[in-house]
Amino acid sequence: MADDVTFHDPDPSVAELLASRPYLDMDPLCGLMLDGVALNDIADKVGTPCWVLSGDTLRARMHRMRQAMQDAGLNASIYYAVKANDHLAVLSLLREEGFGADIVSGGELARALKAGIPAHHIVFSGVGKSDAELEQAIGLGIGQINVESAEELEIISSITSKLGKQATITLRVNPDVDARTHAKITTGLAANKFGIPYDDAAALYAHAASLPGIRAAGFSTHIGSQILSVAPYRAAYARIADLVRTVRAAGQTVDVVDCGGGLGISYRNEPEGQPEALAGAIRAELGGLDVRLAIEPGRWPVGPSGLLLSTVILNKSRGDEAPFLVLDAAMNDLLRPSMYDAWHGLVPLSPHDATLAAIPTHVVGPVCESGDTFARDRQLPPMQRGARLAILDTGAYGAVMSSTYNSRPLAAEVLVDKGTWHVIRPRQPQDALWQDERVPSHLAGTA
Ligand SMILES: *Cc1c(COP(=O)(O)O)cnc(C)c1O
Repeated sequence: MADDVTFHDPDPSVAELLASRPYLDMDPLCGLMLDGVALNDIADKVGTPCWVLSGDTLRARMHRMRQAMQDAGLNASIYYAVKANDHLAVLSLLREEGFGADIVSGGELARALKAGIPAHHIVFSGVGKSDAELEQAIGLGIGQINVESAEELEIISSITSKLGKQATITLRVNPDVDARTHAKITTGLAANKFGIPYDDAAALYAHAASLPGIRAAGFSTHIGSQILSVAPYRAAYARIADLVRTVRAAGQTVDVVDCGGGLGISYRNEPEGQPEALAGAIRAELGGLDVRLAIEPGRWPVGPSGLLLSTVILNKSRGDEAPFLVLDAAMNDLLRPSMYDAWHGLVPLSPHDATLAAIPTHVVGPVCESGDTFARDRQLPPMQRGARLAILDTGAYGAVMSSTYNSRPLAAEVLVDKGTWHVIRPRQPQDALWQDERVPSHLAGTA
């Protein structure tokens, strides 16, 4: 199965990829530009592989989400899902624009606070929060905890009692709705580990309201990621609305419905998820409930805002068969193709390369795994050793999933913003690879 299970049209050409991404532009002299900045300039100075993220595009996409909610007449808070891209520069940019954060670990909580996002603008999600993480979050006065099990509810109540604090919670309900996305990013089916079974939610909510140290504020849900149609959202929200009416009829108070994230983007020019359509689904199902609403977008705002620059190490020809284009980027940098069979657009940086007739090409990284493959039989202009290309739509679940497998240092990261660019993470030096390793004295050599 692929990320793009519902989409079988032929691969878009380089020209088609560029035409549908207004923040990208092929300048006849400078080559590929991201929001007015020449990517060759960045690669010349910083080298490759290098992640480049456009703050301008990220800001514009977050504003579009906020505007869509406002235009639908919804009172909605927007909590950016930190796990999609947790760089401090990203979080700082979003804090400046007044957005909150959705976090899934103590590390993400610390990052969000470090970027200046106040604790009361932070929502804590996740199926397995440790006692230490909960104590940290509750002690800091976190805005909301999305509780994923009856067991977790009891743990939170005992921690609030111990700390003499109150915690505002929602119950994350698993609506048993198929988001029709990749199996590894579906979360709203009864078979998934996430959330509280729908049929248990009303009784557990009444119990939550009775527990000391707990303020039961409402419900949350999150049905998966890379969701391209609003139908599964509507189905999930309709079930949540029923639940709200049920528990209210039983005398409970409900102030909040957190609608989760998951809106999908256009990796191969399939129509992307529309914030306006999502807002419409929320309004249709939840708009009349007189609750404060929330969404938790991650991939949609940040995914298209970023790309990964790479250089062709060599073009390995194989007679009549498709050549292997071996890049200096690999699966340790961008895991998505090997993990989710993800399709990413590939665009040469050179305006000349971009115009050559395309031929079928396999694009791979140098890591010692056959899974280290970015594309098979991709129609690409022939590119030679030293040519550069951009791997598109890698701003979300890209750099955050990197590892140093094969002792490959973490790639550099650059932020393009307001017509200029900044290194936001220098390439990791080689000796940083082992700086935290300790060799017992009886094994220490002469190095
Ligand atoms: C991952 C996650 C999100 C963000 O999902 P995207 O598909 O990146 O929008 C939102 N809420 C929760 C609870 C998540 O786990």
